[in-house]
Amino acid sequence: MKILVINAGSSSLKYQLIDMTNESVILKGLCERITFAGGKLTQKTFDGRETVIEKDMPSHKEAMQLVLDAMLDEKSGALKSIDEISAVGHRVLHSAEDFHSSVVIDDEVIRICERNVELGPLHMPGNIACIKSCREVMGDVPMVAVFDTTFHATMPQKAFMYGIPYEVYEEHKIRKYGFHGTSHKFVSEETGKLLGNKNAKMVICHLGNGSSISAVKDGKCQDTSMGFTPLEGLIMGTRSGDIDPAAVEFLRAKLGLAPEEVVNYLNKKCGVMGISGFSSDIRDLTAAMNEGNEKAKLALEMLAYRVKKYVGSYIAVLGGVDAIVFTGGIGENSSLVRSLVMEGMDYCGAVIDLDKNAVRGETYINTKDSKVKIMVVPTNEELSIARETKELTQVK
Ligand code: AMP
Repeated sequence: MKILVINAGSSSLKYQLIDMTNESVILKGLCERITFAGGKLTQKTFDGRETVIEKDMPSHKEAMQLVLDAMLDEKSGALKSIDEISAVGHRVLHSAEDFHSSVVIDDEVIRICERNVELGPLHMPGNIACIKSCREVMGDVPMVAVFDTTFHATMPQKAFMYGIPYEVYEEHKIRKYGFHGTSHKFVSEETGKLLGNKNAKMVICHLGNGSSISAVKDGKCQDTSMGFTPLEGLIMGTRSGDIDPAAVEFLRAKLGLAPEEVVNYLNKKCGVMGISGFSSDIRDLTAAMNEGNEKAKLALEMLAYRVKKYVGSYIAVLGGVDAIVFTGGIGENSSLVRSLVMEGMDYCGAVIDLDKNAVRGETYINTKDSKVKIMVVPTNEELSIARETKELTQVK
């Protein structure tokens, strides 16, 4: 029982082949520079065999064909026949309000996704192109769309609405959608298992290059920090997160940006990269701070402060909390960010144990007496997609 997970961008395609009998990764790979000159596929199998193929991929169809060739290669692949793949799970950015959970892909699903391209113009075209190509090269293998947004579909209206006229929301569907849903779902489920309580009140902090927080109760998302797009919420690697909308037009005019450039600026030139002036990577910022760089220190403090504010507001939303959970590249690896976020949160019964926090791989990083569990739970978005795909296609 093998499931292929596809995560396609506009010019890249990440894939993993997962054996669902034990949820182990058989191989993983990446196609880069699709539609550009200088295309490249790299692949690694579970037993360390590596493939590098340098070949142009004019479209996602050639990329998919190359992926199949690499997986089927006698020496460096791991499949004898395409028929060994029971199902394919595609990561799709946006469900709009059309889907509230993952869905088996048919022509109608593709039509709806095409209609929703305007909600995710950078990602949706690549997602759709890849689904279509995959159907062409793989024929009748069942395929599932797993959306970044649907875990958040349970948010109540008072949480997902913006303070704009109701008819504008209705007509244009301008509202909070939330993203990173596969990660929030996976981590909240894993946390529920670890706590032995799937109904626990949790605040899940997914902190990576892109970051978001969700408030989860009874396994359902109650609120999340990303919004209409992934720009809202936390201060991220290169994204500003929350900013007064009136400052955006002011900033645009002062910097002489074209209207279509300003969102790109807030996505790509801001966040801790813009504040520090030299890096979006927490490892670089931590090293620089330790050498006395004040802007790196400020960037880290601002990032952690914004997380703390959201954690506090979500504890209020949930009416208390059983577990505060860190995940993602920063959440799993930066003891500094975790300690800055959790500093002085004793008031709500959450007390971090700094010794445990410093130990890599420790799950519980709260003190013995802490009423609230503080946890580090690694995310696994590909496995989350594979599980959804298995469930929907009922692959045995
Ligand atoms: P992600 O987007 O979840 O893959 O997270 C990537 C980010 O995690 C990087 O840009 C770093 O800022 C951060 N990161 C990864 N490893 C470490 C580490 N060992 N210590 C601190 N931050 C890390």
